[in-house]
Amino acid sequence: MSSVAAASPLPTPEPVETASVDALPAIPPWKRSWFWCAPGEAMTLGWILGLHVLAVVGLIFLPLPTLPVLGVAFLLIFLGGLGTTVCYHRSLAHKAVVLHPVVEQILILFAVLNGSGKPHTWVAMHRLHHANSDGEGDISSPRHGGFWWAHLRWLWQADQSRSARFAYDIESPRYRFWSPAQMPLLALSLFGGLMWPGVHPIDVLTAALWIGPIRLLWALHTQCLVNSVCHLGTMDPEHGSSRNLWWLTLAHIGQGENWHANHHLRQVDPRLGYGWQLDLGWWTIKGLSMLGLAHKVRDPLHRRDPMGTAPA
Ligand SMILES: [Zn+2]
Ligand SMILES: [Zn+2]
Repeated sequence: MSSVAAASPLPTPEPVETASVDALPAIPPWKRSWFWCAPGEAMTLGWILGLHVLAVVGLIFLPLPTLPVLGVAFLLIFLGGLGTTVCYHRSLAHKAVVLHPVVEQILILFAVLNGSGKPHTWVAMHRLHHANSDGEGDISSPRHGGFWWAHLRWLWQADQSRSARFAYDIESPRYRFWSPAQMPLLALSLFGGLMWPGVHPIDVLTAALWIGPIRLLWALHTQCLVNSVCHLGTMDPEHGSSRNLWWLTLAHIGQGENWHANHHLRQVDPRLGYGWQLDLGWWTIKGLSMLGLAHKVRDPLHRRDPMGTAPA
């Protein structure tokens, strides 16, 4: 079975009123205090602060997890990373591949458990990033907000309502289901380690902290590095400020998101790394395609932008 199919037309985005998308409030959010929250985003700040506190406590007082605990944490990070890069990013946001619905739902589950949020929000924010890349409408650009804005602050300070129309095609019940499911799943993800079958309470607490907040904090920062350090390059007419960072390969477990300049150059390319650039996300798509669990895989190196605009 062929693993690569010809590119199919993408759905045409709803007309977007440029002025309303790009309009910014009188005080740009990156000029506010770090603890100011956009409407409805206070819980996001609380979640991120809570993760840091719990993870630091765990790293100081219980710094030596067992290998099985590390293995479970690694597995959740690996599957969650695939959920984000293969399902959220390459499939849902850019339509570079169509996944079997069961595979898609499993990958969404692991992405949510990894703290990547629900699919509708992730896709909307990501398309907004591409549509306004490096411009003022780019809600996660370090060019106007600096490193910490791009790395974390935009998560609770950016007006996310501006992005809603960018995910008009992620509205069906199988995607909307994840909105009410997100909170209980995050609670399970954070505290599920308390069910670790340890005899001594310290063993259980160690497992809970490493499988919960320490894992989630690692997942958060490694994902956020794509928006921050991968966009600190010099401006280029073809791929903007994005850049490929080989040294992030380890942090991203070789799943490919660190080849970010490649991605901005060819946004609907299902492949992010080429040649020696390890891209396990691409190999996962290839494997799923061979098993008949992924189809309509776009031609690698195909230069088209799903938003109908040229890369910034
Ligand atoms: Zn980018
Ligand atoms: Zn993208």
